[in-house]
Amino acid sequence: MTSKKNEIIFDIAVIGAGPVGIAFACGFANSDMKVVIVEKQAIKILANPKNDGREVALTHHSADILKKLGVWRHIPANLISTIKEARVLNGSSKYFLDFKHRQIQKESLGYLIPNNLLRKYLYKRLKNLTNVTLVNGANCISIETSNKEYSSITLSNGKKIKASLVVASDSRFSKARSMMGISTFTHDFNKNMIVCRMKHEKSHNNIAYEFFRYSQTQASLPYIKKQSSIVTTVPKDTSSTLMKINDKKFNKEMQNNFNNFFGKMKIIGKRYSYPMITTYSKKFVAHRFALLGDAAVGMHPVTAHGFNLGLRGLEILTREIKLAIKRNTDIGIPTVLRKYQIRLHRVAIPLYLSTNGIVGLYTSTSASAIIARHVILRAVNFIKPIKQTFLEVLKK
Ligand SMILES: Cc1cc2nc3c(=O)[nH]c(=O)nc-3n(C[C@H](O)[C@H](O)[C@H](O)COP(=O)(O)OP(=O)(O)OC[C@H]3O[C@@H](n4cnc5c(N)ncnc54)[C@H](O)[C@@H]3O)c2cc1C
Repeated sequence: MTSKKNEIIFDIAVIGAGPVGIAFACGFANSDMKVVIVEKQAIKILANPKNDGREVALTHHSADILKKLGVWRHIPANLISTIKEARVLNGSSKYFLDFKHRQIQKESLGYLIPNNLLRKYLYKRLKNLTNVTLVNGANCISIETSNKEYSSITLSNGKKIKASLVVASDSRFSKARSMMGISTFTHDFNKNMIVCRMKHEKSHNNIAYEFFRYSQTQASLPYIKKQSSIVTTVPKDTSSTLMKINDKKFNKEMQNNFNNFFGKMKIIGKRYSYPMITTYSKKFVAHRFALLGDAAVGMHPVTAHGFNLGLRGLEILTREIKLAIKRNTDIGIPTVLRKYQIRLHRVAIPLYLSTNGIVGLYTSTSASAIIARHVILRAVNFIKPIKQTFLEVLKK
């Protein structure tokens, strides 16, 4: 941090205290870096985020990052569920593609944690950091990057913040990205994802299921105590009916959709609806500016990579920043930021394209897609290199 005529210039200004923005700021704990994080929501929401229906499946690599950041130890172990196996089924076919924990030489494929708990414990870690300043209840309304030495952001409360580097993690519909004139490849699947928690009669045995049923996909992620996160992807025009029907009808509908697989099912709490729009930013960096998390790549949630990819991104960016500091190099210059961009593209492009492709294929009703699905399910199970590619993602 530098100081000019009583004016503070932070090292890093983060826009958006979502899970990725907070995790990124936590990466500079116990360092000399001065970080400011700006969030439009009030502090009481950050401290006690409400359930938003998302239950986040985390890879082992993501759990390791959260351990290093000092966040994992805060999350009560009895609220974390393990995913031992994942099965993908096509229509009513009994054949399934399966991923087992033994195939990645671990005791589980990954973990499941409600998003509001993740956010709560990330904030708990953040609030103890003396070198991170949180400005809450304020929107970033403009960004200025024409100065050689710093970028500056203006907030809705009239304050101006200067920093060597501005990092925007303000969601897949990032306003900061638009303010910087960075466009995205956007794909609207014209579907909504309806998520909720349900109790069920039969055990899930810690197996995650994904049933592709042509115009609708039905997934379940195993949570604690015979509960699962139930994810239903439906065309936009039918989603409002599924949101409006009463709980009794909804329970019945889910029971039928799962072919009574879990026995009796009962919704706990509310249903939440999310539009299926994926975004990929045409560039991740500009002069003294970087995009991170969903603001860089807004993945399709059906394959549960979004936050995992956000953590990979912050790991790469933090490493480049720390290397630059070691070499006494300015952290906001293109040579430093371009390395982040190249490395993140390398991880994100294959994931983004394969996820969008799989989702398109599995939700299409065309005859060729139906045949291709049967072939692919068998091919992925039997052709080791293809299956290995999917498993590698779970290992990392
Ligand atoms: C239904 C569903 C299920 C999912 N399941 C999984 C899963 O199983 N595994 C997985 O890895 N991922 C999953 N994801 C994706 C995951 O939730 C996201 O990738 C993750 O939330 C991205 O975090 P973020 O911090 O980048 O953005 P966000 O969570 O969108 O947070 C952005 C923050 O920026 C703030 N903000 C916005 N604009 C401004 C502004 N102008 N000024 C100040 N603050 C601002 C917002 O208030 C917010 O707090 C799922 C997503 C959905 C929708």
